[in-house]
Amino acid sequence: MDRRTACLAAMATPWLLAHGVARAQDARLSTVSAWRRRVQAMLDRGRLPLIDLQATYISEASVQANPGIVRTGGKATDVAQMVRWMDELDIALLAFAPAFAPSGEPSLALHREHPDRFIPTTNSGEFARWWNDPVAFVRQSAADLQTGAYYFMGEHEFRHYPSPEQAAAGQTARDITVDIQGPGGKALFELSARTGMAFQIHYEIEDKLLPPLEAMLQAHPQARVIWCHLGQVRYPERNTRYGPAYVRGLIERFEHLHFDLAVARASFVYKPSGARDSTLFDAGGRVAEGWRQLIEEHPRRFLAASDYRPAVEKNYPHQIGHQRQEILAAFTPATQRKLAFENAWRLITGSDWA
Ligand SMILES: [Zn+2]
Repeated sequence: MDRRTACLAAMATPWLLAHGVARAQDARLSTVSAWRRRVQAMLDRGRLPLIDLQATYISEASVQANPGIVRTGGKATDVAQMVRWMDELDIALLAFAPAFAPSGEPSLALHREHPDRFIPTTNSGEFARWWNDPVAFVRQSAADLQTGAYYFMGEHEFRHYPSPEQAAAGQTARDITVDIQGPGGKALFELSARTGMAFQIHYEIEDKLLPPLEAMLQAHPQARVIWCHLGQVRYPERNTRYGPAYVRGLIERFEHLHFDLAVARASFVYKPSGARDSTLFDAGGRVAEGWRQLIEEHPRRFLAASDYRPAVEKNYPHQIGHQRQEILAAFTPATQRKLAFENAWRLITGSDWA
């Protein structure tokens, strides 16, 4: 029994222990074997497989149940198109975190359809059920995890400015604050620490937000946190501390903290502030030397990722091309493998890629 299954067994009810856990464990072994074959097949073809852990899934059923999704420019995920792109772009596995759904079930349904490519993932905290009642949201995620069917948790917005497409549409509803030290934040960090299940946070980079996050990492050292969008600074005047040296300090203090590289290209300007928000890059559009050195020295802590969402679905091949050509190509081959798939593999399976 791997560590994660053991943790889930420990939190399961006696009935689940007797009837469900052995079956769930068998299912996990065969799932991980199928994933390993898909990753290995890409390696055997001389490709660098990518495991994309940052993606938001909206099912057709969710769109029908929530007409507001379409009114605000959203749509359902085109699963058939994603399946084609995954093969064309050497995406081995993808974690689709369902938004606009009462539980993580849409992710399980996707996994049943395509068990070798989609990672069962709890809900994305990128819709109102999270902002309005984060404690209830985490309670549902805990119930999902207790089934033993999940491998990962979605992105949770603690501080989030409207994304570029929302800003362009004049939508301010996605200017989100959920107190990371509040009851929802505590429940989420505790859930991850207890189960060993990794989760993602969206947390803007600003001086005043750093101490609360550090306090949470300090209080929950076993929580598996992925801080999304490395170096994405929307309002530069609000950050004087964060940079490669600050992130190095966090990495040295918190052994389970990771960062993903889902950022825009170097020339991108975030319209509401007028800033080039991808501080990962230098003026020439290359990964800046300070960041390059940090990542090369701590290659286990960073992950390539797309930040796929249906509203900007057509950009997916560009996002992946950007990850590969502008980011991954800056690193040694061993580091590229870690960023592209080995670190994600460890976070979802609990074991190093071997
Ligand atoms: Zn995000």
